[in-house]
Amino acid sequence: MSLSMWYDLCLLTLLSVLFIYIFFTVRITNLHKVYFIFHFFIMLWPLCQFATHVVQDLEVQFFFVSLSFASSLMLASGWLLFTLFLAGNTKRLNRKSVGLLFTPALLVSICVMINPLHSFASPAADNYINRTYGPLFWITLIVLTGYFLSSLVVLLRTLRSPASSRSLKKQIRIVLWGICVLVAFAGTDVILNVVLQDFLPIIPGLTSLGMFITDLFFVFVITRYKVFDLVTIAHEDIINTIPHGILVLDEEESVIETNRALHLFVDIEVGDTFDIETLLSSVRTGDNLQHFIAQYKLRETDLSEIELFSEQRNLHFILQTSPIFDAKRIPLGHIFIFRDVTQERSLVQELNRQNELLHEQNRSLDRTRLDLSLANRRLEELALTDSLTHCYNRYYLTQRLSQELNATAEQRLPFSLILFDIDFFKTINDRYGHVAGDEVLYRTAQAVKQCIRSTDILARYGGEEFMLYLPYTNNKTAKKIAEQVRYAVESNMVHLEQLVEPISVTVSVGVLSIQDLHHVQIGENMKEYLNFLFSEVDKPLYRAKKNGRNRVELADMTPLPDWPFKQSAHNN
Ligand code: GH3
Ligand code: MG
Ligand code: MG
Repeated sequence: MSLSMWYDLCLLTLLSVLFIYIFFTVRITNLHKVYFIFHFFIMLWPLCQFATHVVQDLEVQFFFVSLSFASSLMLASGWLLFTLFLAGNTKRLNRKSVGLLFTPALLVSICVMINPLHSFASPAADNYINRTYGPLFWITLIVLTGYFLSSLVVLLRTLRSPASSRSLKKQIRIVLWGICVLVAFAGTDVILNVVLQDFLPIIPGLTSLGMFITDLFFVFVITRYKVFDLVTIAHEDIINTIPHGILVLDEEESVIETNRALHLFVDIEVGDTFDIETLLSSVRTGDNLQHFIAQYKLRETDLSEIELFSEQRNLHFILQTSPIFDAKRIPLGHIFIFRDVTQERSLVQELNRQNELLHEQNRSLDRTRLDLSLANRRLEELALTDSLTHCYNRYYLTQRLSQELNATAEQRLPFSLILFDIDFFKTINDRYGHVAGDEVLYRTAQAVKQCIRSTDILARYGGEEFMLYLPYTNNKTAKKIAEQVRYAVESNMVHLEQLVEPISVTVSVGVLSIQDLHHVQIGENMKEYLNFLFSEVDKPLYRAKKNGRNRVELADMTPLPDWPFKQSAHNN
């Protein structure tokens, strides 16, 4: 056996070692499977080359020769599949497309294995170690080139795509180098050992060496960039799909990692230097700016944050930062997280606006309510007071008495009524005119108001007659007040502009005091009871008129004036 035979076997052994290394050190996924198939076909080439040299039988020799080419076709198609995986195009791949991808390689492989009419290769000097190639060999080369060119396009596209991460681009660059090496070796092999075989001695193992070196590139990429490490892939996926921007700085504030969302917040790339103060000077910050910068620089807290607003990007965001330490608390750098809160802030603003609107509507409602209640009170006043004398009117008096007497009846308290009538008032009208008469009426009412208690109620009963309701007042006090009223009117001089002499009037007063209440049936017959009281108080007034006017007369209380409903209740 020649040395070149052992050479291929050595390469086969080395490739097998690498295969076993990858097989045992990574977890199996589809990506792994593709890689292992790929690696397996790489191994087949030197194996077949070795076998071609060691076997004597011509047919067996051809079998290994054709198998090595078939494996290189599988390798090329497997390689295209691998690049599609690497470029992240796996979603577009299904059974049908994978089948289509392998079809040319399979068809050509079958033809090569059959070697019809020696169209692929013929033995030279009675063996296939030295051989001449036919047109099928060149077709094989074209198919192989087609696969490599397609994969080249995939890789270059991925390299140009802005969506590809920096680490993926680095991986692709290394893989491209690997491919270049393989193409260079395989191309040299074809040129030296096929095209120029008549002029140059055979140089064995060129393609095998190219394959070995290329595989070394792949192994480097896989181990260096943890291509098969699911956790790393998942981490990268998560980091790139979360909506928060992530920025990792080293001790020199150099950017060592970013994610896709970061570009929403800042324009910075891996390798740039990040200056926190430049960032903070370009946005609107809160009061805690200095505190935040101090915390960032001193690395005292695990997490510090600040809310920022970028006018340029119309973005509200929260910037969080935490220092990174190693196990011995030696600082290694910083991690920044940018969290977009624009939507939350605009919601809060909208809520505040709506609240303010609601408050304003409430305030206007309160104002309207106040206006309404003032208008109501005014209306009530108008309805309950006498416009001429500004005393209560008779309606108010009866309402008030109804309420009061119900309450009084329950508490069994005394009350009194005073009815007074201006004496000879007709004469005043006749002598001074109606307008003067009105003025006298008004002034008389004012004079009476001055001498009564705040709890007493003065109402115009009719014409020039007034009624006083004195709650909780017995006949003795009522008589005293009646005298005060009579005296107040008598001594009240009414000066009128057109008259030299003041006008003076007197009143006749009737007093009725109810000591022992007729409470039994008042509730149901209040109206009748009031009429009864008014007629009872009219009696002493009539007596006062009859006895000479300008005097006070008390109702005759012994025996207590009975009222018809009480009587009828007794009778029943
Ligand atoms: P006496 O009560 O002392 O028996 O005599 P009098 O003259 O006061 O009695 P009379 O009932 O005859 O007259 C009451 C007068 O009061 C008649 C009416 O013109 C007058 N009067 C009633 N209401 C008003 C009013 O609102 N304004 C004016 N100016 N006069 C009124
Ligand atoms: Mg009168
Ligand atoms: Mg009268």
